[in-house]
Order: sequence, then C-alpha cells, then structure tokens
Amino acid sequence: MSAEVAALDRVPARPQTPAADTPADWGEAERARIRAKIARFAPPPAKGPDGRVELVGLSREELVAALGGIGEPAFRAKQIWHWIYHQGATDFARMSTIAKPLQQKLSEHFTVTRPEVAAVQTSTDSTRKFLFRFRDGREAESVYIPDREEDRGAVCLSSQVGCTLSCRFCHTGTQVLARNLGPGEIVGQFMAARDSYGEWPSPKGEARLLSTIVLMGMGEPLYNYDNVAAAMRIVMDGEGIGLSRRRITLSTSGVVPMMDRAGAELGVNLAVSLHAVTDELRDELVPLNRKYPIKDVIEACRRYPSASNARRITFEYVMLKGVNDSAAEARALVRLIAGIPAKVNLIPFNPWPGSPYETSTPAAIGRFAEIVNAAGFSSPVRTPRGRDILAACGQLRTAAGKPSGG
Ligand code: SAH
Ligand code: SF4
Repeated sequence: MSAEVAALDRVPARPQTPAADTPADWGEAERARIRAKIARFAPPPAKGPDGRVELVGLSREELVAALGGIGEPAFRAKQIWHWIYHQGATDFARMSTIAKPLQQKLSEHFTVTRPEVAAVQTSTDSTRKFLFRFRDGREAESVYIPDREEDRGAVCLSSQVGCTLSCRFCHTGTQVLARNLGPGEIVGQFMAARDSYGEWPSPKGEARLLSTIVLMGMGEPLYNYDNVAAAMRIVMDGEGIGLSRRRITLSTSGVVPMMDRAGAELGVNLAVSLHAVTDELRDELVPLNRKYPIKDVIEACRRYPSASNARRITFEYVMLKGVNDSAAEARALVRLIAGIPAKVNLIPFNPWPGSPYETSTPAAIGRFAEIVNAAGFSSPVRTPRGRDILAACGQLRTAAGKPSGG
C-alpha cells in the first residue's frame, strides 16, 4: 500500500475554519452574502411582452394579490389554483366553473403558460429529455426517467441556466451561469413534463407516472434557493400537484449555510455531491470545497432535520477511474459519514465531449460498493439512463442559453 493510500486509511484531514465554530451566526451573514452575490442573476419578471402577468409560479398569497389588483375576491384564487395545478389548465376558457365574462377579463390581464418545449428526445431506454426555452430565449433541460418496472418515475429539474460552480467532471459546469430560473420556470418544467404524459388532473396519492422530483438538473439549487423553495411549495401544495416532500430530493454540491435553511424551511430529502474524501481532492473536483470544506458539509448533514428522524441523506459519489475509486477511499468514506442515516449513490462517470475523466471499471465500482455496503450503508450504483441523448447525470448543457437575438 502506498503512503498516499495508507494516509487515506486514517481519518481525512479536517481543516479548521473559524466560521464553522458558530454555524448559526455565521449562517445568517453567509446567506445574506450569497443572496447579494446572486442578485444579478435574478430571472426577468414573469410577464409577456403585452404586459400580461404569468400566474404559474405565484404563491397563493401572490395569486390573491394579483387577482385583488383587478378587483377579484380571494376565493377566486382558490378556484384558479385548482384549475392551474390540479387540472393542468393552460387556458382560462377551460376553467368551466368561472363565468365567461370573467374568463375573458382574466385573459386580458394574465396568462397561464408553460415554458416553450423547444425539443424533446426520447432515449432507447425511454428516458425523455426536454429542452425548454424561456421567455427571454434562455434554455434549460429537464429529464424524465421512468422506472423500469413500475408505473412511476422521476423528473429531474434544472434550477439555473448554466452553473457558477465548475465541478471538473460536469458538463453543465462548463457553461457559465446565465441566470437563475424563476419559480414558474421551475414548476413549469414539471408541468410540461406532465403534459407530455397527459397526467392531468393531478392524481390523488402516490400512484403516479411522474412520482418524484429530483433537483439534479442544470445548476446549483442552493444558489437559487428562494425561487427553488417557492417552486417546491407550489408542487407540495395539497390542493394542486400535491407531491409529498418525501418525494422531492434536492441535490447540492455543499452550499452549507443554505443547507441549514432548506432543512428548516422545506424538509425535502437532501442529496449531497461528495465525490471525494479528502479536501485536497475535493478542492479539485468540486471547487466549492475551498469555501465549504468536507468537515463543514458533513456537519451540516448531521444537523439536517431528516438526519435526526432517520430519513436518509444521499451522498452522491461519481466514480472516476483511478481518481477517487480505491478501496482505501471507500473505507475513508464510511468513517466520514459514520452515524448519519445515509445511503451512498455511486454514479458511474458519464462522459461528455472533451471530458477529462474516465468511468471507473465495473470491478472498482463493485469493490467500492461492497465496502460501503458492509459498513451498513446501502450503496446502489446509479445505472446511467439516457446516455444516448446526453440526458444522464452531468451531461446536460444547452448550446444556446443566450437571449433571443443576442
Ligand atoms: N448542482 C447540484 C445538482 C446537479 S448535478 C449538485 O452538484 O449536486 C446532479 C449530480 O450529478 C451531482 O451529484 C453531480 O455531481 C453529478 N454529476 C455531474 N456531472 C456528472 C457526470 N459527468 N457523470 C456523473 N455524474 C455527474
Ligand atoms: Fe454545478 Fe452541480 Fe455541475 Fe457542480 S455538479 S458544476 S454544482 S451542476
């Protein structure tokens, strides 16, 4: 065993960051700093060129206020909410419980639309990728991954056009961040995917084709927390789409202060892109690690509310040949996450044109999985889906992403 690998067998170095000593105080200041930094990436107002306001993406309170603005009482909001999110209506004329003159008035002031579907591709394995074009011409992708055996599946949503972070193995990371997506653009991806399978009205209960949401598409959802949270609140609302928070998983590269916020406010499942067990390697693979090192990320996982009630946290670990896939690293990983109710999702690296890594061999992945599993953590290997249409994890990237005419 080389000295390097032997070193990995010890508990990985945990650099001390003074900030981590007081997570609560530090968190508030950090969150304010993050918000200020991303403010310039805010989405444009959700309005058409004719000034009509988009209703998809408004919270219930905002919907009441918008309707109040044209002199309509609050109970209308409840009715319209039902039509939009339960029935999936995209036209006021379909809202049959609303009198014709009011339908007309509503359509003069408002719209109920989806992002434009610029392209759809369906993989040989039935995975379906959507390219959405938003009002300003920016584009992002979503992927629907049907379960192979059951009538259900996951919708992988994008939270940003591009990404400010540049993880070395990720295709999206090679695209600079254009802007954050708004709540309507995020929930709209899900609704458009539902349109594509005709799954309206919203099924009651858990039996549904589009049964889970994973925030694992383009972008870092915790660098667009407010809009992602607003979209997920809409999705979870029981009088509309009504997806349980247990059916939603938010994946982050480790934006520690926002992990605390998401845990306190949303309570969705958390997935953390770990990918390395030493700061030295993680600094290189996930550059955000220089700001929030492994120790801080793991502590935030321990604080995450679901971790205390045994809802498991997912650690994502991309398998890169000869880079992070040794047995010693598997052992270091289980020591790092000891005591956290967790599972480890091993993701064989999905290559993209010009990518600097290779996928670990099946033998290396098998050995890694076995060690993690023997330590009591389930360690499923994520079967790549939709690779033929560049729809697998980390392969999403939109060529255009530019404003129309720009
Ligand atoms: N920005 C968030 C969510 C989007 S990425 C995050 O980083 O967690 C979703 C998952 O795909 C992450 O775990 C990410 O590390 C992984 N991923 C990125 N590129 C990949 C690739 N080329 N092959 C396999 N997984 C990849
Ligand atoms: Fe951004 Fe996630 Fe890709 Fe990293 S892995 S560049 S955080 S989308």
